[in-house]
Amino acid sequence: MATFKCKSCGETKDGRCKPKECPKCGETGSMEKEGSSGCGCKCSS
Ligand SMILES: [Zn+2]
Repeated sequence: MATFKCKSCGETKDGRCKPKECPKCGETGSMEKEGSSGCGCKCSS
């Protein structure tokens, strides 16, 4: 499990994979992984 944070609005979301878009503000590509733990899958792009 990793935490992703929106660099646009600051919304955080837990998940295995990086969200395509922010669930709060809808900004595409704004979610960045927070912390150091990897998600263990190949969804980094
Ligand atoms: Zn956002």
